[in-house]
Amino acid sequence: MLSVSQALERILSHVRPLEPRSHPLSQTLGLVLAQEVVAREAHPPFDNSAVDGFAVRSAEVAEGTWLDLVGSIPAGSVPEFELGPGQAAAIMTGAMLCPGADACAMVEDSERQAGRVRFTRRVRPGENVRRQGEHLQPGQVVLRPGHRLRPADLGLAASLGYPELACIPRARVTIVSTGSELVPPGQPLGPGQIRDSNSYALEAQVRACGGEPVRLGPVVDDRDALEQALRQALEQAEVLVTSAGVSVGEHDHVRDLIAKLGGELSFWQIKMRPGKPLAFGLAGSIPMFGLPGNPVSSMVTFELFVRPALEVMMGRFPGESRKQTARLTHEITKKTGLTTFLRCRLESTGTGLLATATGDQGSHLLRSMVEADALAVLPEELERLEAGHEVEVLPLHP
Ligand code: AMP
Ligand code: MG
Repeated sequence: MLSVSQALERILSHVRPLEPRSHPLSQTLGLVLAQEVVAREAHPPFDNSAVDGFAVRSAEVAEGTWLDLVGSIPAGSVPEFELGPGQAAAIMTGAMLCPGADACAMVEDSERQAGRVRFTRRVRPGENVRRQGEHLQPGQVVLRPGHRLRPADLGLAASLGYPELACIPRARVTIVSTGSELVPPGQPLGPGQIRDSNSYALEAQVRACGGEPVRLGPVVDDRDALEQALRQALEQAEVLVTSAGVSVGEHDHVRDLIAKLGGELSFWQIKMRPGKPLAFGLAGSIPMFGLPGNPVSSMVTFELFVRPALEVMMGRFPGESRKQTARLTHEITKKTGLTTFLRCRLESTGTGLLATATGDQGSHLLRSMVEADALAVLPEELERLEAGHEVEVLPLHP
């Protein structure tokens, strides 16, 4: 049997970041950038007003002095006059400053009367003027490869004229649920049948970590049907994830098929609860994960093994900023020799996080996941953890 960290290490030794490609800017949120973003032009591109008000010669704005209004400059226009002595021009926020003006006075500080304006406050030279290039000079690098794109980055790239960015793409993950007992939600349940919930939870988990899921199935527990379905799935997948049929039952074919399609078998009993069995293989460069069928096991093994692999493929560090610690609010007993992932609610207090188990922890009880904020990692070697014991927690909704 492998420990959780040994299994993860083996998996990660087989995955590489995907090849970067160009993406339309609006589809890059959360992706890892694979190019520099450089200011190709100055920003702001021209001197402009920071306020709605008046372009003035600052030295002339003494209290009570009337100036003649010689024009009005809306945003987006180019003023075709120069400000002479004793003159001012109305100007809108973002509009180009006219030649001759060296400051903008605010409309709130003005009094306007028949083609003239006067001010109740002085303005300093340069006041309320946003200078060309004060934000960015041409050639300045603003974003570098490896950076994970956030909303402000997209705004900045747009303001610098980038309609597309080279990024590491989302991993395309095909999910195949298997099991002759499964029917999709929306269809009536026959005797002995249950609904396929895993493929929906897994699809959402892929999406939540930035991947692009394709959900297939359910496929019946028939070796030939399953082989055909998996071969078909591999045609379009960058990662293949199956649910169920990976254990030691008479109708569990996934394990053998992953071995067959991958050239060799990596099937592990992992020293963990929930989710002991896991099959892993590589079809060419496509990682294949055979996850266990119990709904909690399937989700937990996804979090522990598939998610880190997807993070690496998408150019991120696995488990990036996810680990936290919390203290248990109650005693827990567990089996020694297995790392137990306790579904728990987290509560912030002045002295740190507290973790409380979400009721019955059976691996078929999805409600324990629904109510959970995190998985608390209860170490392999321990059998009893007292209330107050500090444990590592993996947030489920980072
Ligand atoms: P297995 O790994 O095939 O032995 O399945 C373990 C348990 O998980 C069984 O009780 C299955 O009925 C259940 N199960 C398998 N696949 C799914 C699924 N897609 N959705 C919900 N439960 C499932
Ligand atoms: Mg089964």
